[in-house]
Amino acid sequence: MTRTVSIFGATGSIGQNTLDLIRRDRDGYRIVVLTGGRNIAQLAADAREFGAELAVTCFEDCLPDLRAALDGTGTAVAGGDTALIEAADRPADWTMSAIVGAAGLAPGFHALRHGRTLALANKESLVTAGPLLMAKARAHGARVLPVDSEHSAVFQALVGEDMGAVERIIITASGGALRDWPLERLAEATLADACAHPNWEMGQRITIDSASMFNKALELIETREFFGIAPEKIEPVIHPQSIVHALVGFADGALMAHLGAPDMRHAIGYALHWPERRDLPVARVDLARLATLEFRAPDEARFPALRLAREVMATGGGAGAVFNAAKEIALDHFIAGALRFTDMAPLVEATLDAMSREIRLTDAMDSLETVLQTDHLARTRASELAKARQEQTA
Ligand code: NAD
Ligand code: MG
Repeated sequence: MTRTVSIFGATGSIGQNTLDLIRRDRDGYRIVVLTGGRNIAQLAADAREFGAELAVTCFEDCLPDLRAALDGTGTAVAGGDTALIEAADRPADWTMSAIVGAAGLAPGFHALRHGRTLALANKESLVTAGPLLMAKARAHGARVLPVDSEHSAVFQALVGEDMGAVERIIITASGGALRDWPLERLAEATLADACAHPNWEMGQRITIDSASMFNKALELIETREFFGIAPEKIEPVIHPQSIVHALVGFADGALMAHLGAPDMRHAIGYALHWPERRDLPVARVDLARLATLEFRAPDEARFPALRLAREVMATGGGAGAVFNAAKEIALDHFIAGALRFTDMAPLVEATLDAMSREIRLTDAMDSLETVLQTDHLARTRASELAKARQEQTA
């Protein structure tokens, strides 16, 4: 049976890995929507190769190029944020949410109303609007499958288990590019330093978030929202080899671990074929060759993002949306060379402080509009605070 598939963020790292799996079984799938940003050559090439119904760039100014590139093919084209939402209105059996950042929330949210499957790589959706997104899925009988490797691992370790018997969830972290740097040198870390991830090939933003552990901070919140587990039962652990992706601890003391090569096609493939398991083109783990698997507690002085995530989970409500928005702004500034690596967490903390004086952060986010407004306001505050900080140091 041919399944229909849409991929939001098709030109990115997750999107390309998803297409790689689909390419190996061309008759099994029909592509409805592919979306991308400025990489029009990639988007057009994929739309042609897979005969997509619709190709969308999120940038309206890129639309003429996309139109020219796909002229004479059967693929319709569109551009801009509204076009992304309209694209999500086209039903597909399986939708991959792999846009990076809070921009991925609205398309995934809209796709849920078809009551089918949303494969969720966009962790920001759960951080900013977890309760809302999961309620929307339930209301429409849609299924959300995790694609973040740790969450896919937990999901797999929970098959056939009772959540009531879960004592803790442990998610592993490689520690990122700067894990062995002396603490006092971290402030000097450049963009290139932060992008040199030891184990995973990923998009630039998540790679830097791995070095700062903002990625793990987002994932703690993601774990809470996806599995509905109390924050104190979620533990991060540094595991430099990135072979064990997560572990679930049960009431009897048993720990169920998921092991696999650090290759996102594990988690994408599991969500694509679920509930079946099929052959995947990933390296097989050779335990004897690995010889050792190490684990250690993360140092919170090195990774203040983890402490902030705990505070965000304790606050609930709009804190996740503010946290994520401020993190995105901090990251933009670091990438632009306008903020030091170690100034990202203080900027996020200052934004949370400022926003807590402005709105009641504990109030539940009752609609997508409220989330987007909170996100917008937090971005404005974070940008102002970043500017003030730059003026101070100039
Ligand atoms: P990426 O930067 O490689 O790709 C991002 C995609 O989103 C591209 O198609 C880009 O065109 C599109 N995009 C960027 N900004 C956009 C905007 N404002 N509006 C619409 N589209 C936009 O990112 P990635 O590494 O593939 O990550 C995608 C998502 O998956 C992120 O949420 C990330 O946290 C999550 N994730 C990624 C990995 C990984 O291995 N790369 C692992 C786990 C989770
Ligand atoms: Mg992850």
